[in-house]
Amino acid sequence: MTVKIGHGFDLHRLAPGRPFWLGGLIIESAVGPVGHSDGDVVLHALCDALLGAMGLGDIGEHFPPSDPQWAGAASAQFVGHALSLMAQKGYQPSNVDITIVLEAPKLKPYKEAMRDVIATLVKLPIDCVSVKAKTMEGLGDIGQGQAVAAMVTLLAVQSPS
Ligand code: MG
Repeated sequence: MTVKIGHGFDLHRLAPGRPFWLGGLIIESAVGPVGHSDGDVVLHALCDALLGAMGLGDIGEHFPPSDPQWAGAASAQFVGHALSLMAQKGYQPSNVDITIVLEAPKLKPYKEAMRDVIATLVKLPIDCVSVKAKTMEGLGDIGQGQAVAAMVTLLAVQSPS
């Protein structure tokens, strides 16, 4: 098989006074994700998509929250590790499509920078990385500003040998 698809999802609760890491950036907000690491839902979902494409389990198995070495970890480390596991299997990402679900703030000012950061992390040109943002129109926990979620789909292709 020459192509494999991966999918990832993540959600974190939001609480006051925490840095809001999202897609490898800090966005301006009075609240931020509660998490053992930096709580970056985009990078966590990306990590799961990379692992998922290779059938390698999920982020919790590779970086257990119970392990103190990952306390406050920058999630870019997780992505780098998942990418290296993919490379060991002879694959690399071909494109990455990301949907962020967040009520506020609006993400338009951050999307291009986020694409750039993620493209660098997964070693792709920026036009192979898509970042989309949605709200929940005020409905549910995300709609009430109590959580942020992200979904990532990616295609992996065999690396040139
Ligand atoms: Mg997470």
